[in-house]
Amino acid sequence: MLASCPICKKPTDTETHADFPFCSERCRLLDLGNWASEKYVISEPAFDESMFEDLERDITPSDADEQG
Ligand SMILES: [Zn+2]
Repeated sequence: MLASCPICKKPTDTETHADFPFCSERCRLLDLGNWASEKYVISEPAFDESMFEDLERDITPSDADEQG
């Protein structure tokens, strides 16, 4: 399947480009860079750290006793 690199607009092919839809790893990283740049910055976190504390408590098995 043919497409064009979102970064440099070069033609890319899903079968020949491991970084499809990008033409190269460089363009893929550039796109990630755009993501990390301030134009995508998230102003307010949708969660606060106390949520993670609760999650950890859930994930940690309270009854690690597998016998029986
Ligand atoms: Zn490219």
